[in-house]
Amino acid sequence: MARPDLLKLLRQRPILCDGGMGTQLMAAGMTAGEPSARWNLDHPDVVQSVHRRYRQAGCDLLTTNTFQATRTALAQHHLENQLELINQAAVANARKGGGDDAIVLADVGPFGGFLEPVGETTEEELRDIFTQQLQVQHRSGADAVIIETMSDPREVAVAVRAAKAVADWPVIATYAFARSADGGFRTMMGNTPADALHQAIQAGADVVGANCGTDLELQDYLELAGQLVAAGQGYPVILQPNAGAPKMVDGQSVHPASAGQMAEMIRPLLKTGVRIIGGCCGTSPSHLKAMGEVLASARQK
Ligand SMILES: [Zn+2]
Repeated sequence: MARPDLLKLLRQRPILCDGGMGTQLMAAGMTAGEPSARWNLDHPDVVQSVHRRYRQAGCDLLTTNTFQATRTALAQHHLENQLELINQAAVANARKGGGDDAIVLADVGPFGGFLEPVGETTEEELRDIFTQQLQVQHRSGADAVIIETMSDPREVAVAVRAAKAVADWPVIATYAFARSADGGFRTMMGNTPADALHQAIQAGADVVGANCGTDLELQDYLELAGQLVAAGQGYPVILQPNAGAPKMVDGQSVHPASAGQMAEMIRPLLKTGVRIIGGCCGTSPSHLKAMGEVLASARQK
C-alpha cells in the first residue's frame, strides 16, 4: 500500500499521532539518564516493538526515537560520532515497526543550549546542527518532520527553515507550554501561544501546536487547544498532551491519566478544531488505542 501524504490526509480527516517513547523505553528497562537515542542501536527490537504497538493501536504517524539525537544532544553522552548510525537506525526502526504505509516523522528536540545572546550558539551554527540530523533522516526514508517540546520560537524558526532546506516535506512544530501567572499559557521563554505559533508559521511550518505541557492537567490542555486553534491562522493544529501532570508515588514520578480519561478528551478536542491528536509523556499504546477508537467513531458522523 502506498504511503498517504500527510497534508492530503489532514484535509480528509483528523489524524492520530503516536504517544510517548521515553516512558515506554523506561518501562522496558532504560534507566534515567541513559541516552535514549542509543537504544536505536543497542535494542532495535524494543524500539521497533514500541512503534509496532502504536501502529497497531491505530496511529497514523510514528515519531522516530531521536528526540535527543542532534550532535549537541549526543555530545552530552560522547556519542556525537554516532549521529549518522543512530539517526539512520531510528528511521529504520520506525519503518520496520510501522510498516510501509505508516507516516514516519523525523523527530527533532531542543538542541540543548541557548541561542545568542542568552547562550553562545549562533543561528548559523544551530541551522547546521539541525540540517545534519535531518539530512540523515531524510536519506533514511523519513516522510515528514516534527520539531517538538520547544521553548524558544527563534530555535523553532531555525529548525523549520533547516528542515525545509533539506527537502520539500511537511514540517510540524510544537511547543511546551506552562500556566503563566496571569492564568494564560507561556513557553519557558515567555512566549504566548499566539506569538510562538506565529513565528513557526512565518518560518514555514505546515502544522503547529503543543506537546508535553509542564504540569498541565487534561482540562488545561483543552483550554490550550482552543487558544492554539485561534493562534493557528487556519493552519492545522496538533496537540500531544502528557497523561496528566506527573505525581510522585512511592518516590516515582507517575503520569496519572488513564486511557479512558484521555479518550474522553477526544470529542471536546475535535470540537476546538484540533486536527492531529497524539500523546506525550506517560501515554502508552493502550492510551492511544482508546483515543483512536473515539477518533474513528467521531469521524463517521
Ligand atoms: Zn513529553
